[in-house]
Amino acid sequence: MQSPEPETVVTDEDTGTRPLLSVEDLQTYFFTDEGTIKAVDGASFDVYSGRTLGIVGESGCGKSITAKSILQIIDNPGRIVGGQVKLSSNGDASKNLLEMEPNGEEIRSIRGGEISMIFQEPMTSFSPIHTFGNQIIEAIRLHSPLDKEEAHGLAVDWLRRVGIPSPEQRMSEYPYQFSGGQRQRAMIAMALCTEPRILIADEPTTALDVTTQAQILDILQTLQKQNDMSIIFITHDLGVIAEVADVVAVMYLGKVVEIGPVESIFSSPKHPYTKALLSSMPTIDAAPRERMPSITGAIPHPQNRPSGCSFHPRCPSYMSDICGLREPDLVSIGTDQQASCFLYGRN
Ligand code: SF4
Repeated sequence: MQSPEPETVVTDEDTGTRPLLSVEDLQTYFFTDEGTIKAVDGASFDVYSGRTLGIVGESGCGKSITAKSILQIIDNPGRIVGGQVKLSSNGDASKNLLEMEPNGEEIRSIRGGEISMIFQEPMTSFSPIHTFGNQIIEAIRLHSPLDKEEAHGLAVDWLRRVGIPSPEQRMSEYPYQFSGGQRQRAMIAMALCTEPRILIADEPTTALDVTTQAQILDILQTLQKQNDMSIIFITHDLGVIAEVADVVAVMYLGKVVEIGPVESIFSSPKHPYTKALLSSMPTIDAAPRERMPSITGAIPHPQNRPSGCSFHPRCPSYMSDICGLREPDLVSIGTDQQASCFLYGRN
């Protein structure tokens, strides 16, 4: 079957504004000896200035690969094989980041400059043999005309803003001397010191205890307000998404299966996968020892993608005459939600 044209997803309340970043029909595949893995297979969404887009889904649904594809930092044997990532520039026509050379000057000036990224495990992002101070100063100088002394002052200021005690002294320490929570704060400082227009935060609080998690979310939200920054927040934690996101995109097997404002997604989910995810969240009203509902079956290996709707082997609303045979498009439901499911029309 010929794949349909992807529908343009307009997800902000303020539909009159142009998106800052538009991801359209993104496809990133991994070409392995065992076959092709379609890690991202047609993801589309928009990101607006000063707003947070939450991307949720189980492990392996393509959230992180989507984020890395935006910045073209996909490791071999992965390759972006289709789609567009349009970044709007102030007043100018938007640039398609995927048309830039992956190691070229243009995309390198955007990475860490206009778009920064926070990774789940900061230890893998810092060099263990350079002091943290040297690394943040280098990041600042790469994207600004500041001299070393000015960059040092700015770095100390950012460490203070993200809540690192004695920042002057910590500048000369190595990443292994920071605790997990401090490393994550330091990583946020490094990502934000260049005042990016967009921050991609990939599971930034997953490895942290709840207190540190709450502090980090607080820091991100405060800095977002101060700088009118957009955030793409990737997590499998729906509780965190409810707290930080304006718009939520739910991904399953490399596709966005539902997207809409956070209130609508939580109060009136449309896609059976979103409903299943929400019902498997722990609630305070649950009776003691009550078994928590879980999603039936396991997420299939992307190499063995089911035919038709990829959620059909796990779906409680499966319809035998269509769900395993055709792939549903993302369609509008009501005024502000979109979902790809035949329950809302046999497109
Ligand atoms: Fe379930 Fe069918 Fe909708 Fe897929 S298209 S989510 S299988 S009802």
